Amino acid sequence: MVSRRSFTAGAVSLIAGMGGGLAAARPLLRWPGGARAAVSLTYDDGLDSQIDNAAPDLQAAGFRATFFLTRQNMEDQLPRWQAVWRLGHEVGNHSVTHPCQLRHCTSARFGDEEIAPMEAFLDEHFSPDRFRSYAYPCGFIGLGEGEESQRIARYGRALRGRIAAARTVSGLANDPSRVVSDPLLLHAYQPTYAVDDPRRAFRYVRRTLAAGGWAILVFHDVLGVRKGEGQTSQASHRAILRWLSDQPIWCAPMGEVFQYIQARQSPARPVAGGQPQPRARV
Ligand SMILES: [Zn+2]
Repeated sequence: MVSRRSFTAGAVSLIAGMGGGLAAARPLLRWPGGARAAVSLTYDDGLDSQIDNAAPDLQAAGFRATFFLTRQNMEDQLPRWQAVWRLGHEVGNHSVTHPCQLRHCTSARFGDEEIAPMEAFLDEHFSPDRFRSYAYPCGFIGLGEGEESQRIARYGRALRGRIAAARTVSGLANDPSRVVSDPLLLHAYQPTYAVDDPRRAFRYVRRTLAAGGWAILVFHDVLGVRKGEGQTSQASHRAILRWLSDQPIWCAPMGEVFQYIQARQSPARPVAGGQPQPRARV
């Protein structure tokens, strides 16, 4: 089994100095339905517990989410993942093998071996009209050797033309006015990665509400009992969904929020993967 770790201290330091996060309370964008902020729930790695536990919790709460699939992890469960997708959830690219050793990777090789084949797999088994979203395996946003900026640019070249928006694992909530200009470095937060405490998610979303921004939350395994780092207990998961249900937020898959922002900021620019497709609501 491939490594399913997705948080790294390195990724945090890389993101820390970047723009795009929310700093001040000011009206940024009018969200649907009078919502004061947007929230996207994302689940990485294509884990069985997400089919067994996360998807039913989402269904009960009436939320649609984004599942970032790693082919090697989820291929055996393909029909079940297709059933999850048909409920209206988004599926995105989390690579074929979830590589975390990227020092010797080139843009061309990484794109050809990890990005393009996974896009083709998702096209074939889900839909070619999907929004083309990506989540960085291990939270690493750089490829190869050299300066951080060079490594980030190298990763960007592997994604460009194939991916419309890519999610990291850290940073303040996204400022909608900067999302479209920096679509491959969307900020996100892993509320339960280090500590299984739903209040961390509440705090992050409260700050997002105060600023009118877009919070993307990251989860991995959702289990009856948390056994280790990165896992979320189902009690915490349900507590977060319950709390979100009472907030004035627009909760939608990552691609839908991205396209909503894009349509209001650069209506002339097409999105790779076409326009959002209407799907059954959960
Ligand atoms: Zn991952």
